[in-house]
Amino acid sequence: MRVPVARIPVRGRIPLNRNETLRPVGEVHIDKDLCKGCGFCIEFCPMGVLEFSDSINKQGYQYPRVKPGKEGDCVACGMCERVCPELAIEVREASLVPVEVVWQ
Ligand code: SF4
Ligand code: SF4
Repeated sequence: MRVPVARIPVRGRIPLNRNETLRPVGEVHIDKDLCKGCGFCIEFCPMGVLEFSDSINKQGYQYPRVKPGKEGDCVACGMCERVCPELAIEVREASLVPVEVVWQ
């Protein structure tokens, strides 16, 4: 997995501790057979991490997956977990990575 670095645009003063700031990386676990295909998790993910897979589950619904190449972009905010009406998603905080502050 590539090492993810969060890029935070800053206008004005740059924080003095910018090189010490870490952000979480989440691991998304989806129980595909509980999914009803509503798409809430995809719509509400602030990082655009999720998409519908090409497959259907045993109930006949298309279920979400992590987009290829976006594995390190989840910030473990838990939004997908909270909005899922079927409790099909669990997010675990796997690690912390540095944040890159970008001057604008
Ligand atoms: S935890 Fe947050 S960033 Fe990660 S996939 Fe869910 S909604 Fe997206
Ligand atoms: S919010 Fe839950 S039920 Fe809806 S698509 Fe995502 S995993 Fe499936």
